Amino acid sequence: MCADFPDGYWRELDARREYPEAFIEAMTKSGYLGALIPEEYGGLGLTLTETTIILEEINRSGGNAQPAHAQVYVMGTMLRHGSEEQKREYLPKIASGELRLQAFGVTEPEAGTDTTQLRTTAVRDGDHYVINGRKIYISRVRQSDLMVLLARTTPLDHVQRKSEGLSVFLIDLREAVGDGLTVKPRRVMINNETNELLFEDLRVPASSLIGEEGRGFRYILDGMNAERILIAAECIGNGRWFVDRATARAKERVVFGRPIGQNQGIQFPIARAHISVEAADQMRFRAAELFDRGEPCGAEANMALLLAADASWEAANAAMQTFGGYSYDAEYDIERKFRETRLFQVAPISTNLILSYVGEHVLGLPRSF
Ligand SMILES: Cc1cc2nc3c(=O)[nH]c(=O)nc-3n(C[C@H](O)[C@H](O)[C@H](O)COP(=O)(O)OP(=O)(O)OC[C@H]3O[C@@H](n4cnc5c(N)ncnc54)[C@H](O)[C@@H]3O)c2cc1C
Repeated sequence: MCADFPDGYWRELDARREYPEAFIEAMTKSGYLGALIPEEYGGLGLTLTETTIILEEINRSGGNAQPAHAQVYVMGTMLRHGSEEQKREYLPKIASGELRLQAFGVTEPEAGTDTTQLRTTAVRDGDHYVINGRKIYISRVRQSDLMVLLARTTPLDHVQRKSEGLSVFLIDLREAVGDGLTVKPRRVMINNETNELLFEDLRVPASSLIGEEGRGFRYILDGMNAERILIAAECIGNGRWFVDRATARAKERVVFGRPIGQNQGIQFPIARAHISVEAADQMRFRAAELFDRGEPCGAEANMALLLAADASWEAANAAMQTFGGYSYDAEYDIERKFRETRLFQVAPISTNLILSYVGEHVLGLPRSF
């Protein structure tokens, strides 16, 4: 399927900063976007391991899995914590593509990485909640029908632990946009449609709440291991793409009468990047295997993402050096993928926060924040 969407397809969309509608349509028809939705709700019911291979392949083929990945895992919060009624109502439609759930609203201008400080509030008012606040860099809002939103339902000074009092809502964007929710697009370095959101007395039915009020932070954390592992696989896809392209170029480009790949200054960085990608891949499969067995995998999921993000970035730099001036030329796609893969050092979680998780939770080092 990916072969039907060659480099030129992604390149042109990147230049115009357009959403890959045709690709998402093909992904939907193939059922891949419902990979993790159980068969009883109309999905493919695949394991996480299998699903990582789908996302890896998109990036490995030269594409960008970003527009596709959210629909794959954002529904996980509802699957694990939603009521049977919510699951029956939404999951089959998400699996068939009739409804798009690709938006996930957590980050805020004032809170950033420190999620528990978020200021968006949802206040109960009879059969409704009234939502006020701001979010930033919330992707694919304009392409989605539904959004999972994290908001504070109990003020910070009324909870014992700062992680309490946050709740998750399923927002129907078709009703909210223009009626309490304003969406302002932000242009970013890559073709990732992302937005600033302003909530001004947005009224949503109380039935929009997913799970129990006040337990939202835990629900979001529950989904993070799957997200980390899936995105690690996207990095591996990028890493392999860079290594493939750099290797081909190093064999064919002749300078000073010999292929540039004959020079160890060019050959070794590509070989080193290949080794890093292969090593990261082992951790990705290890984490996915633990996840699929229902065993704790927080450490492995985080380590897989850090190793894979670093490996893809190393491979990106090796490819840049191998292509020389051509690496800056949009027609060779290296610069596009270079920009795309840089994201994983920063989002969905910065590598600093992964190091702090491993330092504190795996090695038992003193808590730094
Ligand atoms: C293209 C794109 C798409 C995005 N899509 C979404 C989306 O759909 N939904 C969503 O909710 N968010 C989204 N985000 C936001 C993203 O998740 C955040 O940008 C990211 O989590 C980092 O938060 P921040 O930008 O506020 O960084 P900040 O919190 O301002 O941190 C800045 C830097 O300081 C570091 N830092 C902070 N505290 C510490 C510490 N104690 N120790 C060490 N280092 C520290 C961080 O690691 C980071 O490197 C997106 C971002 C981008 C760029």
